[in-house]
Amino acid sequence: MSETQDIRVVLLNGQDDLKIETRALAEPGAGEVRVAILAGGICGSDLHYWLEGGIGTIRVREPIILGHEAAGRIAAIGPSVEGLKVGQLVAVNPSHPCGECEFCRNGLPRHCTHMRFKGSAMYLPHEQGMFRDQLVIGAGQCFPMPEEISPGAAACSEPLAVCLHAANRGEAVSGSLKGKTVLVTGAGPIGALCIAVARQRGAAEIIVTDIQDATLDVALRMGADHAVNTARTPEGLARWQEGKGKVDLVFECSAAAAAIRDAVSVLRPLGTLVQVGVAGPTPMPLNVMVGKEIVFVGSQRFDVEFAEAARLIGTGAIDPRPMITGTYPITEALAAFRAASDRSSSVKVQLSFAAS
Ligand code: ZN
Repeated sequence: MSETQDIRVVLLNGQDDLKIETRALAEPGAGEVRVAILAGGICGSDLHYWLEGGIGTIRVREPIILGHEAAGRIAAIGPSVEGLKVGQLVAVNPSHPCGECEFCRNGLPRHCTHMRFKGSAMYLPHEQGMFRDQLVIGAGQCFPMPEEISPGAAACSEPLAVCLHAANRGEAVSGSLKGKTVLVTGAGPIGALCIAVARQRGAAEIIVTDIQDATLDVALRMGADHAVNTARTPEGLARWQEGKGKVDLVFECSAAAAAIRDAVSVLRPLGTLVQVGVAGPTPMPLNVMVGKEIVFVGSQRFDVEFAEAARLIGTGAIDPRPMITGTYPITEALAAFRAASDRSSSVKVQLSFAAS
């Protein structure tokens, strides 16, 4: 490709100001590759940046190319790269910890104080994201996928890594999910993938709650046994609230006060509440949590789980395709973002970047 060639990017200039712009094509340096992006998933954080100009204390303070869930084909390889071939399908890990700070040195790279996470407005300058035709990135952040896997499925490696990390955090305090009764509150993409992980790890019974039938239908297709629409059926969790509660572990994926209250009401004494969803300050029923001696576990992003996520999708052990409810070409990015923000019909909406 010539140096004058431009690529398209999905740029957020600020709140409610999303545009397609062009940028010059860059070539990979030592240790880097250039990936022709094929699929990019729109995440809740992308939507918060667009609709609200940030999440909590993280604000969009300069133009940022969005996107941190992507897959594509290797288009060019820089010097000193081994193990990757031009044309190969890869899932791209957006996480790039520094490797040198106290957290990186202590085996907690997800807490890196100099984290460069693609499409994140946490630090200045913002880390530019992956919604673009071509992306130059470190070769170590590219995970080869089998040819028969769709780029859209491969792009779900990032949110699946989030859910694998949540499961690992929960299992660290409560033991294996095998044989457990698990509730997932919030049936968006993260809830749907937490269901898939709980199923894959042998949970005995999986219940899911949401206030939208469309997302609950997807949750059932992702492996849940029981779906409860808590808006239409407020008493729908009664059988798991009996006694002091029947549920061993909850993946709380909504960050809604009502869902957290439901979660605590069904947890058995010494049960585990894994908090995956995030919002601003949120009321929690501390009296019940303390009385039941609930174990509260926060879960933030992922570390080594990205490789496991790519492997589980690559082998077909977890199939994320039922949750992909819409795919839009990059030229219709605004329509894609609108669809993704409509929870009455969407779970995961993706952009496609196939040359057009
Ligand atoms: Zn670090």
